[in-house]
Amino acid sequence: MKFETIKKVILAAIMLPFVFMVIEGVILLRSSLKEYRDLEKDRQFADVLARAGSIAATEILAEIGATRRYIAQPSGPAAAEMQRSRAMLDHERRAFYASLPSRDVLDKGLVDELSALNLAYSRIVAARSAVDQGRYINSDPGYIYWYAAQKQLAVVDALSPLISDPVLLQKSNQLMGILLTYYGERLITVVGTRYLDHGFVARFPVELFVQGKVMLGDGMDHMVFHSSDSTVRDITAYLGRSNQVKANAITDSILAGSRPTREARDIWAVAQNERMAFLQHKIVEAANDIHETGESLSARAHVHLTLIFALCAGLLILATLVMLLAARGLRLIDRLTRDRETLVGELRNAAQTDLLTGLYNRRGFEVAASALLTQAEHGSRWISVVLFDLDHFKKINDVHGHDAGDAVLRHVARVARENFRSFDLLVRHGGEEFLVLLPDSTPNDAAVIAQRVRLAIEMAEIPLPSGELIKVTASFGCAGRANNAANRNFEDLVKRADLALYAAKASGRNCVISEPVVPALPQEERRKAGSVGGFDSRI
Ligand code: GH3
Ligand code: MG
Ligand code: MG
Repeated sequence: MKFETIKKVILAAIMLPFVFMVIEGVILLRSSLKEYRDLEKDRQFADVLARAGSIAATEILAEIGATRRYIAQPSGPAAAEMQRSRAMLDHERRAFYASLPSRDVLDKGLVDELSALNLAYSRIVAARSAVDQGRYINSDPGYIYWYAAQKQLAVVDALSPLISDPVLLQKSNQLMGILLTYYGERLITVVGTRYLDHGFVARFPVELFVQGKVMLGDGMDHMVFHSSDSTVRDITAYLGRSNQVKANAITDSILAGSRPTREARDIWAVAQNERMAFLQHKIVEAANDIHETGESLSARAHVHLTLIFALCAGLLILATLVMLLAARGLRLIDRLTRDRETLVGELRNAAQTDLLTGLYNRRGFEVAASALLTQAEHGSRWISVVLFDLDHFKKINDVHGHDAGDAVLRHVARVARENFRSFDLLVRHGGEEFLVLLPDSTPNDAAVIAQRVRLAIEMAEIPLPSGELIKVTASFGCAGRANNAANRNFEDLVKRADLALYAAKASGRNCVISEPVVPALPQEERRKAGSVGGFDSRI
């Protein structure tokens, strides 16, 4: 497998789980955040609901009572008590409004109920000033407070559906049930007491009594759904007590229009007042329970969210570590790939290059020449070869030593490289013999270039390791052919150049001999061509 492919596989193996981990983390975080926000919202609604319920059950009724007592007997202490109850109600109302979520998260039904409640409170404010001005002597502002209490109950009712947590929803429904039961009982008690206290002449306000009964029934219906709950069980058990059962029977007889005996009336009044106190106590209990449940749910959600955050942070740190390690691994692979490529290049060079002269060795030459010959077949018309060999080189070795011979070979190779053309291919053919392939050149062209190189070698003063300078000469043989597919034999061309070189050696060395061009030129032109171009011509 290629390094690039390995790199991609490693990247995929690391990145895919990482991407999945991040996606999962984001989903988990988002759902936890949503859950947390929902619970926070629930907690807030539950708080508002409990506060609204508690106002309906306590503060409004306390102010009705205190106001009635003041109207009946406007003394200093009664006035002080009334002022206290007003302050309490105002304080609770302010707290209630302060705890309401912003209007944009409230639904239209609740907003409408809140507007109606506001109106009801402004009527209480007006009633207060009327009471203070003595305009309520011999009358009762109770219906104004009653109306406000009804509106407060309606707000509790409208708040319940906004709660999504099932436990909180159940508890808020239960609170609503107790509130309705309490209000029903209160209506029945107030109306019943007035009816019984005013003797036979008083008209029995049956519609108010029925309204009380309906509220009671409504409240019980709310509670029936939660019959297994301890608060509901307490209430059911309480209402099952003998004095409470007796009181219910008396209520029914009042509703039927009969007038119970004084003893029965007393039993009824005591039982009803006890029942209301009990229910009021249960309302406070339920409201506190809602508040606490909301708080604990929110605290749990908070812990849960913190854990999720910690988990995600841990995952992120882990993923970052993995990524850092992966990056290091990939850098290592990159470095290995580069080292490998350099090594392969060096090996290839070493395999194709002659170590002493830096020219191609035979193998490198074969590769380069075959590419060049194929290329040349399509373009150039001629191809030539020059073979040159140092003269009496053995003597140099013998006289100056093998190292000196090596230095001469290196120097001559450099001179040759500098004087042949940049696109000519030079190869150390063996020992002190060099072969050059000249593309796009006739043997004449080759002979001219060879002559230039020969002169350069002859002129060169070669420094030996001993510091001594020596001069050498070389003999050159050139051969060429028309470059076409039918005439491919390169070996043959080298053989012919070798013959020419042999001829050069035989002619006294330090000269260039070019074999006759095929087809041979006419005799006259050969003469004109002078010393260059003929197999026997000597330069
Ligand atoms: P001629 O003019 O006929 O070519 O005479 P020559 O002495 O150059 O030819 P000969 O073939 O008799 O000798 C070639 C010598 O080149 C023999 C060999 O020791 C020497 N030689 C071959 N390769 C190397 C090399 O790599 N380094 C050195 N220092 N000498 C080499
Ligand atoms: Mg030689
Ligand atoms: Mg030789």
